[in-house]
Amino acid sequence: MTENDIIDDLVTANHILYNEGVVDGFGHVSVRHPTRPDRFLLSRSIAPGNVKAEDIMEFDLDGNAIDARGRKPYLERFIHSEVFRVRADVQAVVHNHSPAVIPFGVTNTKLRPISHMSGFLAGNVPNFEIRDAGGPATDMLIRTPQLGVAFARTLGSAAFALMRGHGAVAVGDSIRQVVYRAVYAEQNARLQAQALHLGDINFLNDAEAAGADAANYANMDRPWELWKMRVRQSLR
Ligand code: MN
Repeated sequence: MTENDIIDDLVTANHILYNEGVVDGFGHVSVRHPTRPDRFLLSRSIAPGNVKAEDIMEFDLDGNAIDARGRKPYLERFIHSEVFRVRADVQAVVHNHSPAVIPFGVTNTKLRPISHMSGFLAGNVPNFEIRDAGGPATDMLIRTPQLGVAFARTLGSAAFALMRGHGAVAVGDSIRQVVYRAVYAEQNARLQAQALHLGDINFLNDAEAAGADAANYANMDRPWELWKMRVRQSLR
């Protein structure tokens, strides 16, 4: 893919994540630069639903803008820079505050795969506690490289992590996969909270989660094209 194709997909990802209720006025999605793995692409600091190609900025892995041209970056770009630095397998990152995931970051109830669409939640979903890295009086934001490093350490090798009292981060090997994970993590959280009201939950076991995840991986384009169509419909 050329850089322009990647930028087009990143703009589309911003619009999809807004349309599907994963981001609102806040939240962001990035992609590693296609030819410079030590750089990544991320919008300037605006609502994802409003992002256009000219808003996409390039950053190094310290979170410095390469050519800002007066555009203001997101405060929390260090989530992206520090994850890209330590996770060579990660090509795209979503950070969001979608409502259904928040309760799982502030209680002892673990977020677990309730259906075959969210096998990537198998294992222990990490939960970032900013007090461990930033003390008891932060503004909850990953606004420094040091907090980004601490977050990336909590994420470890996982596909998805919660942030206590704040939101979540999904990572993936492509824009399509990270959008899929962010959408289905939110859906899983909503369904799990509903199921808890009904009784004990029979979650996918690790083998089922891995199998379902592999099966869905072959079909990443299908939901992407559907969500893209919905964006076009909603813009009419
Ligand atoms: Mn945030």
